[in-house]
Amino acid sequence: MMVDQKVIAERIQRIQKSIPDGVEMLAAVKTRTLAEAKTAFEAGVRLFGHNYVQEAEPMVNSADFPAQWHLIGHLQRNKAKPAVELFDMIESLDSLRLAKELEKRCAQAEKTMPVLIEVNSGREENKTGIMPEDVWELVEFLHSCSRLRLMGLMTMGPLTGDPELARPYYKETRRLFEEIAAAPVPPTEMRILSMGMSNSFRVAIDEGANLIRLGTGIFGPRHT
Ligand SMILES: *Cc1c(COP(=O)(O)O)cnc(C)c1O
Repeated sequence: MMVDQKVIAERIQRIQKSIPDGVEMLAAVKTRTLAEAKTAFEAGVRLFGHNYVQEAEPMVNSADFPAQWHLIGHLQRNKAKPAVELFDMIESLDSLRLAKELEKRCAQAEKTMPVLIEVNSGREENKTGIMPEDVWELVEFLHSCSRLRLMGLMTMGPLTGDPELARPYYKETRRLFEEIAAAPVPPTEMRILSMGMSNSFRVAIDEGANLIRLGTGIFGPRHT
């Protein structure tokens, strides 16, 4: 299939112009081809997010452009080893058990991994992310890790048609982010707040997001 490079580049430039300095754009590339990702890279995107280890593997290993690869989907513990090898950041750390496994795998690989804690800010069952009340236990554990570097929080928020409905959840995640940043044992660098997707990134930026994750807004409707 032909990639419409011009359309993708124009969408990226339009969004880049409209977001404040200091807000970074990540391209969510689930179901997308390597050619589409490369087009986004050439238009200036440097961060790419994958939902699945298996889907990421062929793209990350064959990409001939120096992108930063983030995992943004739920990670099963039995995929921690390849995830540590593939990704530059894990945005979807959502349990103590996963943190323990990642710490172990990073030690084996002699690698340091920046992580974001994914918060289930909508407190929805069957949703990824850790419940807000369980975040502190994970933060404390991360203080003791030598391989995992806590850098911030990520949230999806409830998926609704109306981005205004996500606002309270972004607000709550920002409050939690600031509480952690100000905690008595400060983590090394709490500086990334990853919130907002194609239909909601403006509301998320209003509420303090400095990393937005865009799929359809860059590439158009998904192929599958
Ligand atoms: C797909 C996805 C996005 C982007 O969603 P769009 O609505 O296509 O912009 C952002 N974050 C995560 C975790 C995703 O899975």
